[in-house]
Amino acid sequence: MRKLTRKINVGGVEIGGGAQIPVQSMLTVPLENTSAAAEQISALARAGCDIVRAAVPSEAAAEGLEVVRKTSPLPIVADIHFDWRLAIAAVRAGADKIRVNPGNIGGRENVQKVAQSCLAAGIPIRVGVNSGSVPKDILEEFGGQNSPQALVKTALRELETLADCGFFDVCLSVKSSSVPVMIESYRLLSSQTKSPLQLGVTEAGGRENGVIASSVGIGALLADGIGDTIRVSLTADPVYEVKAGISILRALGLREGGFHVISCPTCGRTVCDVIGLAETVEQKLSELPQPKKTVEVAVMGCAVNGPGEAKRADFGAACGDGMAVLFRSGEIVGRCREDEIVQKLIDFAQEAE
Ligand code: SF4
Repeated sequence: MRKLTRKINVGGVEIGGGAQIPVQSMLTVPLENTSAAAEQISALARAGCDIVRAAVPSEAAAEGLEVVRKTSPLPIVADIHFDWRLAIAAVRAGADKIRVNPGNIGGRENVQKVAQSCLAAGIPIRVGVNSGSVPKDILEEFGGQNSPQALVKTALRELETLADCGFFDVCLSVKSSSVPVMIESYRLLSSQTKSPLQLGVTEAGGRENGVIASSVGIGALLADGIGDTIRVSLTADPVYEVKAGISILRALGLREGGFHVISCPTCGRTVCDVIGLAETVEQKLSELPQPKKTVEVAVMGCAVNGPGEAKRADFGAACGDGMAVLFRSGEIVGRCREDEIVQKLIDFAQEAE
């Protein structure tokens, strides 16, 4: 069962309080390049992203934010390091949330100034604690280690500072590049606060290792009912972050909708290119408008076992030698040539609501 947290609103997208778990990503292009930023936001929105974050390291970036926000289909979170003045500039530019890294924004006084500005604008703050954010005194208290206890104490101290300013619309994160540390940190934090939590493994790596580390860390916590929004951090095109995030939620039954390809691992019975076929079908389905209810599309490697193995699929193809058997809900409904398989599946998909 999901742990009930306080609900916050980020430009119309709810986080916490039992709301659907939003998937976040981050721009890899600078906000100063307004056309590239707008283009990347559109690509992320098409991939299913709910909220996008962007670095605001300068006044020029804050000015870019103001331009980009006007046409953005997604709420934008301004990511601030070092300079509280930039946080205030980002609020004025229309940011839907501010993310501050408490360790480098210059102490309690500056956090309070940012809080007052966000309070006036009616937008929330994320306190993003990571290994570089733990203040010296807490680090010393925990023997110089970025332990889960140190990360959590840092997050709770910031929460208290914000509460002292009457600011409660706070989302917390305690990310680590170590999956065990990240899991333990969020478990500990979740037991001590009702603030919504953003889950993520920081510096997770590239598409392969990063997706695995994030799936294990984020997945373990979500399975425990912990977590209100997620970001998969990858050294890759951020569209992959969104796809991975949605796949994690779907795997746990926490995200409904869209086409979902299930395909067999192939074996000695396979006589056609199931791997290439599954990739092509997945790509083509991702280009179609996504259905509200999840539609499972199977690509299987043999006509004998395929339909049976893919019983839960809404429809699919089980490939034989130069041909395929087409099936819906486990029942065979026709046959086609190998070169017709992709189009037949797309035709079925277009009939789905
Ligand atoms: S569906 Fe057929 S080809 Fe694919 S793994 Fe199962 S038995 Fe092998």
